[in-house]
Amino acid sequence: MDFTNTTRSTELLEQLRDFVKARVDPAIDTVDAERAAHPTTPSPTTEQLCSEAKSAGLWNLCVRHPDHGPGLRFTEYAPLAEFLGPNPLAQEVTNCDAPSNINGDAMIVYGSPQQKGQWLEPQLDGQIKSAFAMTEPAVASSDAGNIATTAVQDGDHWVLNGRKWYISGVLHPKCTYMMTVANTDPDGPAHGRHTQFIVPVDTPGVTIVRNLPKFGYLDEDGHVELTLDDVRVPDANVLGDIGGGFAIGQARLGPARVQHCMRIIGITEEALRLMCERAPVRSTFGAAVSTRSNVMDWIGEARIEIEAARLMVMRTAWLMDTQGDKASAPHMSQIKVQVMRTATTVVDRAIQVFGAAGVSEDTPLARWYASLRGLRIADGPDEVHLMGIARRELRRHA
Ligand SMILES: Cc1cc2nc3c(=O)[nH]c(=O)nc-3n(C[C@H](O)[C@H](O)[C@H](O)COP(=O)(O)OP(=O)(O)OC[C@H]3O[C@@H](n4cnc5c(N)ncnc54)[C@H](O)[C@@H]3O)c2cc1C
Repeated sequence: MDFTNTTRSTELLEQLRDFVKARVDPAIDTVDAERAAHPTTPSPTTEQLCSEAKSAGLWNLCVRHPDHGPGLRFTEYAPLAEFLGPNPLAQEVTNCDAPSNINGDAMIVYGSPQQKGQWLEPQLDGQIKSAFAMTEPAVASSDAGNIATTAVQDGDHWVLNGRKWYISGVLHPKCTYMMTVANTDPDGPAHGRHTQFIVPVDTPGVTIVRNLPKFGYLDEDGHVELTLDDVRVPDANVLGDIGGGFAIGQARLGPARVQHCMRIIGITEEALRLMCERAPVRSTFGAAVSTRSNVMDWIGEARIEIEAARLMVMRTAWLMDTQGDKASAPHMSQIKVQVMRTATTVVDRAIQVFGAAGVSEDTPLARWYASLRGLRIADGPDEVHLMGIARRELRRHA
């Protein structure tokens, strides 16, 4: 395995750093104010930055399919994603923000030509965004076989009924459709009874009930609860095959996890940087906090854990690049568990070093902690990944 960065990735990273420093970071407050004043309208400053990123060739960097974007391999995108990780606005203005980035990846593989024209192309162009709607409050959704929302055929349409929650991104002013998982064959096999539908957010019968918090933090793009009441979508909105919803969901989650992990390593590095800046300038009982052996251990351990996590992510990215997503599936589960654990541990230690300031909103640490802790549940709870890893090990040694 050779993880040497390619020339194009190195050059793009430099260009991206310059662009974010010069144009994106100074605009964060303006964008926040625009979003707060007009939550349902795209922020004009964000739109301006999108068009600048596009002209500069810093657009769709996460799109690995060369027919639809720059075609960077995952190993090439990893340093860019790590840099973008702590900066949501930079992710958005380069069109690399979740979950649209991953829905696009799935649509490229599973979408019909008509679906690509109607949904994928405008999304890749930055005109629209999308969400992924699977989880339901009434059933244990870490087992996708439980998903209970129904879709019943009626002529050349399907009629969906159900309730979803924690659906991320729906409140983004450009969110136009949801890839929605529904049960089309209640008596079918657990992994063959679901189908994915493209449900436009403005279809009659789609009702957003509330935005759900993470430890009290509300994301402006939302993690919403919503109901589907006799929502009618045409046959043309079936994504992939009837009964193929589970397989598409699994295929979609692979690239989602690896990209999440890359971005989160960037956040973890930032948390370590903050901890290392803070510890030397706070003194207690006659010595700087940074000289205490437990704090030195935390810093040393954080460095080791980040290096280990990054290497695991790079290996997974390399396997995806060279052997495909399916061959890399066991490694995706491993990094999903390991990176989130590392990140929550490092951010937790950084919070401790900051004292009360660590739980305030004067640093990003508390908000990061809430997000990272949530990610030990989202995209499959740790325990479900561990079950899959353990089952493989048991088979291997049987
Ligand atoms: C911030 C955030 C964003 C999200 N965004 C989205 C989104 O955009 N779209 C979407 O569809 N969903 C989203 N989700 C939902 C998320 O995917 C689900 O919460 C997750 O799949 C778990 O389902 P559940 O909440 O129903 O937990 P349950 O299935 O009820 O599981 C509860 C707990 O049971 C334990 N458990 C489950 N299975 C096992 C096992 N085999 N062995 C041991 N223990 C087990 C685990 O500890 C698990 O946490 C999001 C969640 C969060 C927190």
